[in-house]
Amino acid sequence: MEPELSPQQHAAEAIRHELDLGHGLVDPFIVADQLGIEVVRFPVVDGSLEGMYRPTELGGYIFVNSQAVSVRQRFTAAHELGHHRLHGTTTFVESVIDAPDDWEANRFAEAFLVDPTGVRRLLAGLEHDVVSMIARTCDEYWVSPSAAGIALKRFGLISEPELASFLAGGWTYASILSANGLRPRPDAEPGAASLPGRFRDRVLRLVELGQLSPERGGAMLEVEVESLPPVAPSPDPLGPALLDDLPESLD
Ligand SMILES: [Zn+2]
Repeated sequence: MEPELSPQQHAAEAIRHELDLGHGLVDPFIVADQLGIEVVRFPVVDGSLEGMYRPTELGGYIFVNSQAVSVRQRFTAAHELGHHRLHGTTTFVESVIDAPDDWEANRFAEAFLVDPTGVRRLLAGLEHDVVSMIARTCDEYWVSPSAAGIALKRFGLISEPELASFLAGGWTYASILSANGLRPRPDAEPGAASLPGRFRDRVLRLVELGQLSPERGGAMLEVEVESLPPVAPSPDPLGPALLDDLPESLD
């Protein structure tokens, strides 16, 4: 019997339906664009910040650390989309995307990247071998072995002990595909080495408002905290009024 869909799984299914994405591989970066959410990819080499979602009147923007491997970036982008759909006008700045209070966005990301209907079809009729089931899922949906395993467990396709024993195996995306005769997709280049000017001003503004710690702001801009430049007047095109409406520190 299929478990009932959680609200987060419903939200993921709703986006696939709205955008007519079917049940296969999705690109969360393209989806963000289709939803009117701006995406900024930038390498944060020390990994102190993996992702950020910030709502604006124009639909909001998502930041993703482009230094991470592709499966991680895809998950981060999907996780931030989850915040957009589930938490609307709340700002999220995050360095660790598996923080306990972030579970709703993670549930969304799992179900959005690994479509429950599609993966059931994919695995239907295959032998119940956990490693090969997860390898096929990683291959089809371009997710990490842990994301694939957790999704299969949530969808009732593997058991909790099977997941635990699988996770103890320490597979990576590349190793599980190669071991199963599948070819890993290459990682994308980290991309632009300097933060786009408009986004840089937004980061400074977040620091000024106390919504982003100076340490993280400095890490994103690759400068020492003390040398963070003064903020230009009203750098955010939406103006300070909207920014000031948001909760204080979410860092
Ligand atoms: Zn989050």
